[in-house]
Amino acid sequence: MTKPRVIYEPKPGSPLHADRAFYARLASATEGRTLVERFVVPRRTGRAWRVRAGQLVRIVAVEGPQVADLNVWNLANPRERFWASRTRQLHQAHLGTFDRLWSCLPYLRPMLTITADTVQYARDEDGAGCHDLLGTRCDPYVHKLLNGEEFDLCCHSNLVRAVAPFHLTEPDVHDVLNVFQVTGLTAEGRYFVKPSAARTGDFLEMFAEIDVLCAISVCPHGDLSVPVWGPNAADALATCHPLGVEIWQPAPALLAGWTSPRVSDYRGGHGLRAT
Ligand SMILES: [Zn+2]
Repeated sequence: MTKPRVIYEPKPGSPLHADRAFYARLASATEGRTLVERFVVPRRTGRAWRVRAGQLVRIVAVEGPQVADLNVWNLANPRERFWASRTRQLHQAHLGTFDRLWSCLPYLRPMLTITADTVQYARDEDGAGCHDLLGTRCDPYVHKLLNGEEFDLCCHSNLVRAVAPFHLTEPDVHDVLNVFQVTGLTAEGRYFVKPSAARTGDFLEMFAEIDVLCAISVCPHGDLSVPVWGPNAADALATCHPLGVEIWQPAPALLAGWTSPRVSDYRGGHGLRAT
């Protein structure tokens, strides 16, 4: 049997790897920051908000363990949006500090870079990790598929409602980063979850590389400790908590030398030639 081989190997200097010293400084220099906005997203709801390039955004477990489903768009062009599957290949199936959230084709640039993660779950004995890119959002169509029920309490539906004030619609909602969600694959390769590892006060902090629109759903399944489907399925309301969002402006001196990344400069034209 051949050994596993990591396939996405960058050349030295590739923007795949963030400048760790730069982002570590941003994360540690909390005293010179200015709070731009802070709000709470109630349990089982969603909300969208703008973050400007050069700002930091935190998603905070303000009242206990809770999963958030995150979507991200270029604020000026919603066709450019977070590409979960490529990000999983470029970095890891569970994101951590210094990993980046990459945009879809034909743009392919970092939209956000993770500067801090207080959960620090690492990888457990079942191969599970936190901040999941293996799965995606819960949605009413899969509920109907699995148990025949009409069920509106879903992250997909929360995100659809959250982006409506920004003139986005259901097809704009895309595959997510499951913040605070612990997942893995069984030995047979099946997706599993464990209860969220977040505790009150935990946060995931990200640096906005470009102007973005972010949206989260505060998952109606709470911390995912109650089975959603199967014989032990039950209402997870008692495990649902709100989430906080904070937007911070770092001290200007910390951004010296940083420039907002450009879209990919691939110009090959896919081999198409004018005749
Ligand atoms: Zn959900």
